[in-house]
Amino acid sequence: MRILDDVKLDYRDVLLRPKRSTLTSRKDVLLERSFTFYHSPKKWKGLPIMTANMATCGTFEIARILSKYKMVTTFHKYYSVKDFEKFFKTFNDPDYICYTLGIRDKDIAQLKAMKKKGLLEKFSFICLDVPNGYLQSFVEIVKDVRKMCPKHIIIAGNVATNEITEEIILAGADLVKIGIGPGSACTTRRMTGVGYPQLSAVIECADAAHGIANGTSVGRIIADGGQQHASDVAKAFCGGADFNMCGSLFSGFEQSGGETIIKNGKKYKEYFGSSSNKAMEEFYGKKDKHRASEGRYTLIPHKGDIHDFMQELMGSLRSTATYIGARQLKEFPKRATFLKVNRQLTSYLEQYDSGE
Ligand code: 5GP
Repeated sequence: MRILDDVKLDYRDVLLRPKRSTLTSRKDVLLERSFTFYHSPKKWKGLPIMTANMATCGTFEIARILSKYKMVTTFHKYYSVKDFEKFFKTFNDPDYICYTLGIRDKDIAQLKAMKKKGLLEKFSFICLDVPNGYLQSFVEIVKDVRKMCPKHIIIAGNVATNEITEEIILAGADLVKIGIGPGSACTTRRMTGVGYPQLSAVIECADAAHGIANGTSVGRIIADGGQQHASDVAKAFCGGADFNMCGSLFSGFEQSGGETIIKNGKKYKEYFGSSSNKAMEEFYGKKDKHRASEGRYTLIPHKGDIHDFMQELMGSLRSTATYIGARQLKEFPKRATFLKVNRQLTSYLEQYDSGE
């Protein structure tokens, strides 16, 4: 047994120190980024924010909206080849969609079927998604998928520490998904005791990934989960995240997935984790016997129209940029100084926000 003494941080443990800025208007802030990748020859340009591959936000409906904002929709795993065939009759914007698969035999079989039908070419991104990316078998599957899809931008995860981030990049991933336990619908920390405070995970894994270079590009990471507010998205970028992936932030809207439910005269939307009993029962017909649910089912107050939120999200990022003196999103890590703060302060702010 060992105890690591240095304190690891979550988004709510820090604030950003304001800095002198020469910007005259938020409008001048450039939020778009252009990326090259360690393995994939593709070039990507857009606002590097993506939905989680969850049933409440990784949907066709959301993709039609987010692609207009140059943000990526990572589809949930429950769409069939037929669903995609139908979808692509009216959608053609590869840069802003991501195909997701797990590592079961049937996931690999569907990937092959998608490839055979020419449907994979309609995606720039492929996401290999497992709750625990530390399994050696996962690294082997990353290698296989890279061989099968040499040109795609491959995302793989989830992990939360530096050595495995490096290993997954060297195995074939362009982007490693960082986050063990921070998700709002995730109960892993409570069920298993395993986890890693998310801001520290992002900072440490971004540093490791960016250190892997091949002359053309570097390894990259996605900060996945735990962003409760737009400010957390900004903090992840400041910590070195290349992309942010968010579930609850994109859920609960009129256009999001999940049922709308009226309770005591108030409108709610369903939000549930991918390994919640609800997801396992709804999409697989049953819960796996050997698995405990590591996901939560909740109702979140209906948040209205997603377009209003998109404006708010981009406005908040622009505002962060002006406070820290960054002219573009790319400069966030260079300009950021984090202040460790007393948790009581940030929890007070959260209570204040929720009107408690
Ligand atoms: P959020 O943005 O809602 O805080 O977190 C979204 C992320 O939570 C997802 O991208 C995924 O990594 C993680 N997640 C989603 N569903 C589950 C679940 O059922 N269990 C666990 N452990 N993590 C989940």
